[in-house]
Amino acid sequence: MSQNTFTPEKILIITTGGTIGSTSEAGNIRGKSLIESVPEIARYAEADHYEFSEKGSSKITPADWLRLGQLINGSLEKYRGFVITHGTDSMEETAFFLNLTVKSEFPVVLTGSMRPSDFVSADGPANVINAVRVAEAPASLGQGVLIVMNDMISCARDTWKTDDLRLQSFQSPSFGHLGVVDPDTVVYYRQVTHLHTKNTPFDISGVEILPRVDLLSDFTGLSPDIIKNVFDLPSDGLVLQSFAGGRTSANVHAKLESWNSGKPVLVASRVPMGRIPSQDMYGDAVFIAADLPANKARILLMLALTLNDEHVNIKELFSRF
Ligand code: ASP
Repeated sequence: MSQNTFTPEKILIITTGGTIGSTSEAGNIRGKSLIESVPEIARYAEADHYEFSEKGSSKITPADWLRLGQLINGSLEKYRGFVITHGTDSMEETAFFLNLTVKSEFPVVLTGSMRPSDFVSADGPANVINAVRVAEAPASLGQGVLIVMNDMISCARDTWKTDDLRLQSFQSPSFGHLGVVDPDTVVYYRQVTHLHTKNTPFDISGVEILPRVDLLSDFTGLSPDIIKNVFDLPSDGLVLQSFAGGRTSANVHAKLESWNSGKPVLVASRVPMGRIPSQDMYGDAVFIAADLPANKARILLMLALTLNDEHVNIKELFSRF
């Protein structure tokens, strides 16, 4: 950051709900109470709080992603970093959407908890403090949107929730974490390579509603009536979660080979690691999502469709972000 750039003094903590903002009995606790329950935050940062929602994250919608991204982009002159407390069920989606749409190198750090706040050894308070420390760490600048859980720092693109219960649920099995939050300091061991944040063409400032992209998971013997109904729906795009290597069941394969409508179809492998090497497996209107999982490929396709450019090179977008 150049010397004459103004740097805000504060960070903004945005609460959205989820297990971190709940108790095992009473359900949701207000974001304000959540932040007040972790007074140690003040040791690491001067922070304001914004209560965005009180939602379990399986109820978060693309409209919430859009509003959250626009809130952050509208706050970049006031805050030098952002911590978002969020449910873990769809944290990876929100993180990836923001990774493609926040227009700053300031840290945006998502965190949550695997245990409610009233469980023995609840993990929420430590996760919030660690997220604040990462948001305050100079080495976090330019790393894109981050997920901090269980002392580990992960990048939005490579990370997903791998376990329903364990504290170490958030993993980046293909490429590993970016770094760690140790008791004395934040340590990064690698840099993010895919483009993100300021280095994407996606501008959500004027977007009121995101394009509709549906997702269908293939399975053995998937019948033609499901395929017809799903492909014919009034969506703007479709993601087909395939078997390994982009391979599909017989009826789906036939549909993809003959697909030539203007609606883009993406094939993403259900296998969580590796990538689909071949780009030319089906018709010209069918694209391969390389190494992105279906839930994240859907987000990238939604944003590609906001470019409103019939010549947008979807294949090229999937090699860069
Ligand atoms: N159990 C989830 C969580 O860990 C619930 C949610 O995602 O809202 O936050």
